[in-house]
Amino acid sequence: MDFLRPSSWPEALAAKAEHPDALPIAGGTDVMVELNFDQRRPAVLLDLTGVRELAEWERVDGRVRLGAGVSYSRVIAELGDRLPGLAMASRTVGSPQIRNRGTVGGNLGSASPAGDAHPALLAADAEVEAASTTGSRRIPIDDFFTGVKRHALHADELIAAVWITPPSGPQQFSKIGTRNAMVIAVCAFGLALHPERRAVGTGIGSAAPTPIRAGAAERFLTEALDADGLWESRGDLPDALVHGFADRVRDAAAPIDDVRGSAAYRRHALSVMARRTLDWAWTDYQKAGA
Ligand SMILES: Cc1cc2nc3c(=O)[nH]c(=O)nc-3n(C[C@H](O)[C@H](O)[C@H](O)COP(=O)(O)OP(=O)(O)OC[C@H]3O[C@@H](n4cnc5c(N)ncnc54)[C@H](O)[C@@H]3O)c2cc1C
Repeated sequence: MDFLRPSSWPEALAAKAEHPDALPIAGGTDVMVELNFDQRRPAVLLDLTGVRELAEWERVDGRVRLGAGVSYSRVIAELGDRLPGLAMASRTVGSPQIRNRGTVGGNLGSASPAGDAHPALLAADAEVEAASTTGSRRIPIDDFFTGVKRHALHADELIAAVWITPPSGPQQFSKIGTRNAMVIAVCAFGLALHPERRAVGTGIGSAAPTPIRAGAAERFLTEALDADGLWESRGDLPDALVHGFADRVRDAAAPIDDVRGSAAYRRHALSVMARRTLDWAWTDYQKAGA
């Protein structure tokens, strides 16, 4: 196995162009497991940990450009106030060791339906910046996941960063596992309220072949909040509205039975998480306006 260790972003892109089958490695918390269990035997490993640009985040035109190599620990410590949904999701990942090594770019690279960053990125309408020696492009998060553990990157592309707009309203993340830490989600749910554009964002994890959005639930809640003037009044949400939202989140899922949980349990759990996260987020919204 060849091991390439570029020390700059242009070098990394040149290496990927020359070796399109090279397997990038960032924190290695997915890749090393796959190598150890002989699930992968790549001819070339492309170590990105020497590329300083990937480990940086910055504010650009009011948005956060989060380098693909920024770890979960840094998202929590440095961006908890700007990206609360992603920080909440990051707190549930693995253990301190995994959060120190594991990166949001690596979560996207694995594109697992159970990746914990994904529901938060969907709810926040993030964009993935992909780059190659021929240029870069932004992929809306909805178009990034193309199948089970498959994504929209071309063979010569690497993930440079994720673009996220800091929220104008509350965000929430909820995850169900068989214990409190070091657990792959049985299912997960991310919610973002966007009062400045009167919109609602959602993301569902571990309950479909890819991370997905609950589009009908988003539209239902957005229309109801508008129709009842609730964005302005910040009044209590009617029970029927909360349950209607939760039912639509549940119905958006396409889960399977597996060792972590049954499809029926996942559907039920999603409706509970949808109700709870909406309750928490709306209470935060009411408090912010008080
Ligand atoms: C004990 C343990 C617990 C875990 N718990 C959780 C959990 O709770 N929640 C969760 O979501 N995940 C969990 N994981 C999985 C893993 O930690 C995450 O998916 C993490 O985000 C991977 O990031 P990484 O930097 O380590 O990626 P790596 O392992 O380095 O790479 C992962 C994939 O992304 C690709 N990749 C990396 N960087 C780039 C890039 N810049 N461009 C293109 N492709 C790239 C790699 O080629 C590979 O396919 C756990 C793993 C372990 C071992």
